[in-house]
Amino acid sequence: MASTLSSRPQLQHLTAQLDELRQKGTHFRLRVLDDMQAPICTYDGKQVINLASNNYLGLTADPRLREAAIQATRDYGVGSGAVRTIAGTMKIHMELEEKIARFKNVEACVVFQSGFTANAGTVSSILGKEDFIISDELNHASIIDGARLSRAKIKVFRHKDAAHAEELLKEIQNEPGRKLIITDGVFSMDGDIGPVDKLCDLAEKYGAIMMVDDAHASGVLGKNGRGSIDHFHCHGRVDIQVGTLSKAIGALGGYVCGSKDLIDFLYHRARPFLFSTSHPPSVTATCIAAFDILEQEPERIDRLWENTRYFKQELARLGFDIGGVSTPASETPITPIIVGDGRRTMDFSRALFDNGLMATGIAFPTVPEGKARIRTIMTSEHTRGQIDQALDILDKTARKLGILV
Ligand SMILES: *Cc1c(COP(=O)(O)O)cnc(C)c1O
Repeated sequence: MASTLSSRPQLQHLTAQLDELRQKGTHFRLRVLDDMQAPICTYDGKQVINLASNNYLGLTADPRLREAAIQATRDYGVGSGAVRTIAGTMKIHMELEEKIARFKNVEACVVFQSGFTANAGTVSSILGKEDFIISDELNHASIIDGARLSRAKIKVFRHKDAAHAEELLKEIQNEPGRKLIITDGVFSMDGDIGPVDKLCDLAEKYGAIMMVDDAHASGVLGKNGRGSIDHFHCHGRVDIQVGTLSKAIGALGGYVCGSKDLIDFLYHRARPFLFSTSHPPSVTATCIAAFDILEQEPERIDRLWENTRYFKQELARLGFDIGGVSTPASETPITPIIVGDGRRTMDFSRALFDNGLMATGIAFPTVPEGKARIRTIMTSEHTRGQIDQALDILDKTARKLGILV
């Protein structure tokens, strides 16, 4: 049956594009994890040191979180049975939202199915076509999609360049539409930190709404992982804070924090909230338990930063380009190793894997053409021995391929 479908002409343009990727050397196959996310795990039947997951604090496999998921499944079943606004709001959903709001020190919180839907659903619903979005050029795809769906006019500023953002704000100063300034707290491909404080100043100066996407900052930056707003002491200055439950928190989901009215509005207008089923009890219970761990075990975050500092220092010492696109380079547990050419990067990643290291190659269109890189992520759970072994594999493989000379 499958073979008859593949001979039909309707989708041949897709095959042609895949062939193009193969020619460029950037076509990939999905690596398949045989066991669970951990510093050492098994992909495609091969045991490797894992520098590729967003499992910053090792929570994906935490026994307490697994237990919370199992208990919630026993108590409440495997699904919520409806979208939140019809019949799918469970007590446990409200409990998680209240917990996050307290943690973030804001009035209210709404949880979405993912960070992606949190961003896309929020940006698209709070603005209309007479409005303006002032957006960092490296903001996450979910912000860009939300911006497009809103039909607002999008003004893109150079990466982390608050002065450029101000120029754009000046140009539209006398336009009647609302203005939204939006930045990632931590940029996911470069690991650098957005200028949240400077953008807050601009938002106040020009009467703009301020929004920060803290997907990679949640659980990583600020006190107990409260994020970039805490890191910059910008409490009360950011109207809309987005976070994810899929990275450091270890499970799945996204959330928006802000005023009661913002959250109430999103309950009424955010399309993923209205038209897509809410989390199963297991996911929600896992997230609740994870926030308890963030509050009770700050030493996880300390270990994450110790490992990060050591790994970066050693990468630089070996001579790798861990540059990022701006100065300063990566300031977080995400460290890119810039290779440049897409094919060379993918070859490097495959060779690393063969030598026992999982570190994903990332090329265009996820990062700009010519900026292909190996993206590494440190976690609190990597031991010094594992990090040293990873560095050794990186060094030897890079020398063999002529990436280090
Ligand atoms: C990962 C990520 C998201 C999406 O979060 P998910 O919960 O995985 O959907 C949004 N924004 C940024 C900056 C991210 O890195």
